Amino acid sequence: MDPIRIAIIGFGKIARDQHVPAIRGNGAFSLAATVSPHDSGLEGVPHHTSLDALLAEGPAVDAVALCTPPQVRYDLAAQALARGVHVFLEKPPGATLAEVSALHARADKVGATLFAAWHSRFASGVAPARAWLAERRIEKVSIVWREDVRVWHPGQAWIWQPGGLGVFDPGINALSIATHILPRPFFLTNATLVLPENRAAPIAADLHFRDTGGAPIHMDLDWRQTGPQSWDITVETDAGTLKLSKGGAVLQLPGGTEHGEDVEYAGLYSRFATLIRGGRSDVDTDPLRLVADAFLRGWRETTDAFHD
Ligand code: NAP
Repeated sequence: MDPIRIAIIGFGKIARDQHVPAIRGNGAFSLAATVSPHDSGLEGVPHHTSLDALLAEGPAVDAVALCTPPQVRYDLAAQALARGVHVFLEKPPGATLAEVSALHARADKVGATLFAAWHSRFASGVAPARAWLAERRIEKVSIVWREDVRVWHPGQAWIWQPGGLGVFDPGINALSIATHILPRPFFLTNATLVLPENRAAPIAADLHFRDTGGAPIHMDLDWRQTGPQSWDITVETDAGTLKLSKGGAVLQLPGGTEHGEDVEYAGLYSRFATLIRGGRSDVDTDPLRLVADAFLRGWRETTDAFHD
């Protein structure tokens, strides 16, 4: 079978760190081109400064991986789908729920694959955590996602703008895991979003959810964490406590601890190939919906200005 010719659109941090090695490590794909307005791409790989230029001048592509900020994703995805090109959407899948749903309908209409990728769901501890929790009664959940924005997002202006999500940019990864491993749906009951006085997106948030069985879920997001960083989900159940840490890579169960390897993007590309070969899409917007609900229902507090 011929490899799927894929172009990476938006050649920034995640494209270089994760997409390039994952594509090169998967024989189902060949990296056909890169697109980015201000980057020069990779030695030996055709590069264009816009998707328009790539589609007009080639090389031909079967798929694109959209690694831009979310605010510009819709137009790029719609343009690709109009050509029948399969689309991989980095997380979050869009800047609004409605635009993602429009893309999903468009992909179905043209018979192309749309994949809303949630990389944290492919962390090594997540599938076993989901299996272990499936038979348990959930009593209480705590999510703590505290990191230093200056370390992880230096100079990323888009992340502080409307649609950039602020601290929910990493926080949505935690929600992508929680919505996947917890056996019941859950919903927001109240939230406080803390916004720097000079920014349009939160630097911290405190959220309370409840699942449909009544279990409380608390989420603590903070981008002002210096020193040790936390990406932890703790689930208390009728059979003891499960803890996922390091963003899902380490799983602690009452019987012992498993340390996994970094397999997230290899898993995403394997899934994308399977979806394309099977003529299917995978567009789960649950994590984005919970974030949208926090913006819809949360209190706002203002804090000190943030400067990079
Ligand atoms: P980034 O470093 O700012 O890179 C984004 C790139 O998109 C920039 O290099 C920019 O290109 C390009 N771009 C902007 N508008 C474009 C357009 N219209 N057409 C083509 N390219 C365009 O951001 P990032 O950290 O890689 O994050 C990108 C996405 O991946 C975000 O949704 C983020 O949530 C997600 N993500 C990030 C990480 C992470 O650890 N950083 C992890 C997982 C997922 P120029 O520089 O050439 O202008």
